[in-house]
Amino acid sequence: MQTYALVVKQDTISNEVAQDIKKRLKQILRYDQARPDLVISVGGDGTVLQSVHTYLHEPCYFIGIHTGTLGFFTDYKKDEIDSLITDIKKGEYKINSRHILEITTYQKQSTKTFYALNEVRVDYGFATQVMDVYINNDLLETFRGNGLCVSTPSGSTAYNKALGGAVIYPGRPLMQLTEVAGIQHNAYRSLGSPLIMDDKQVIHLVRKEQSILHFGIDHLAYSENDVERVEIKISDKTINFIEYKEMSFIKRVRRAYIVS
Ligand code: NAP
Repeated sequence: MQTYALVVKQDTISNEVAQDIKKRLKQILRYDQARPDLVISVGGDGTVLQSVHTYLHEPCYFIGIHTGTLGFFTDYKKDEIDSLITDIKKGEYKINSRHILEITTYQKQSTKTFYALNEVRVDYGFATQVMDVYINNDLLETFRGNGLCVSTPSGSTAYNKALGGAVIYPGRPLMQLTEVAGIQHNAYRSLGSPLIMDDKQVIHLVRKEQSILHFGIDHLAYSENDVERVEIKISDKTINFIEYKEMSFIKRVRRAYIVS
């Protein structure tokens, strides 16, 4: 690795930490915001999402520093910069590849492709969403409600968890479909529980009416006209995080949700 870039949360502490890293990496790596081998994010898990979307199509590695408490994508706290610099100098690391989702929207004349590290949410609280849900080519249900969320194992601890989805140990190519306030009564029924699938499955959401589609991907929000169908699958592409030290997923879960 020869070059690095910084993606920094816009607050005072994160900016100070970023300046300190820049000073201390001077003799070790070249700062190159355009073509980095390593992308260092300073902030939180949200900042890591930003860094991943900024450099999605570059062949680079990612690492996160948390300026609050430790998160799920971040391996160093703000008072551990010494150990980060020592680890970068040593250069001994493992690659932790995270599976991401590939989302394609089909409009009359065009298609668009997006990628998600956490999840895609076809979710709009102000009008009932009506969508046929196909898994491969089999109709599962006609969903009615606020929306649907498909998350990766990395995203299972984020919005998916708030929807009652399972936390999934990362590493396997899995995706989880969860409902956002599904309507359940005599006239309308949907599965009502999360469904976990692997990379052999493709989800199609076919919309009953083609008004504007509102959807969210990680921290980003989109609105697209005339979308007939949304395809969601596990991508062949992965996001590669650098791991200088082993970080137990269970310890992260315990610290985040049980005892800090
Ligand atoms: P945001 O304010 O950047 O993030 C909301 C919270 O989600 C922050 O505390 C963030 O951690 C945390 N987070 C992000 N990725 C996570 C992960 N993989 N596991 C556990 N926690 C995670 O919100 P945003 O920009 O609107 O959306 C970014 C992500 O936040 C979305 O992908 C979504 O999954 C999540 N989110 C969750 C809820 C919810 O749980 N109800 C609501 C909105 C958004 P940091 O503080 O470390 O950045």
